[in-house]
Amino acid sequence: MVQYKTASDIQLMKESAQVLARAHAEVAKAIKPGVKTKKLDSIAEEYIKDHNGVPSFLNYNGFPASLCISVNDVVVHGFPSDYELKETDIISVDCGVLYKGFHSDSAYTYPLEGVKNEVLRLLDRTLESLYLGIAQAKVGNRVGDIGFAVQAHVEQFGYGVVRELVGHGVGKKLHEDPEVPNYGKKGKGSKIVSGMVFAIEPMINMGTKKVVQERDGWTIRTQDRKPSAHFEHMVAIWDDRTEILTTHEYLEESYSFKWRNKSR
Ligand code: MG
Ligand code: MG
Repeated sequence: MVQYKTASDIQLMKESAQVLARAHAEVAKAIKPGVKTKKLDSIAEEYIKDHNGVPSFLNYNGFPASLCISVNDVVVHGFPSDYELKETDIISVDCGVLYKGFHSDSAYTYPLEGVKNEVLRLLDRTLESLYLGIAQAKVGNRVGDIGFAVQAHVEQFGYGVVRELVGHGVGKKLHEDPEVPNYGKKGKGSKIVSGMVFAIEPMINMGTKKVVQERDGWTIRTQDRKPSAHFEHMVAIWDDRTEILTTHEYLEESYSFKWRNKSR
């Protein structure tokens, strides 16, 4: 059942998303070769707690950290660890914040400076697909229109769209209805209605769409071990417009490698 939000709920969700965006920016400053991914997790946890938030992911169904950190062929839900980032890695950082009673959720995949052009292109195109999906998230459309837009964009490049994991409603709970797949058919799926708030989060693989789960019960990898990209925004549906509640602006300002469209 979809939990519709009032204007004041959405205002609180924006405030939650601001704490989240600043936490992402603190993490972005620390992403460089040699840093342990668990260091990034402690930066996010400390920032969120210092700003009166609660890390949404910590202890969620037993998840052990405040960030999901997914490097290279890990699609999503990786654990922060003693692994030290390398020059040629890409790293997806997914974070959630509970603030004033509402969750916010967003993700971004960073390339380090030694990443190959073909991988930079995967990131550019996945980020493009996120905004193409957001453009379809409006009253009068259906959830399938979002998935169709994402899928059509990335499949032209031979990439695989992960099927097992999807976007989702967000609110007082981290995961609410509706499900928002990154694949679909135009005009199919739930109607998009004013008062909905949901996360759109393409998870796009350079090779096969197939994924496997590690024995830890969380970590999702590509079956062919090729890299995977993940970007996420949370949007609110109003009668006459769609508002992106999360922002990547601060983290992009904070991250030293200005990688967008470098591969072209
Ligand atoms: Mg999400
Ligand atoms: Mg997320």
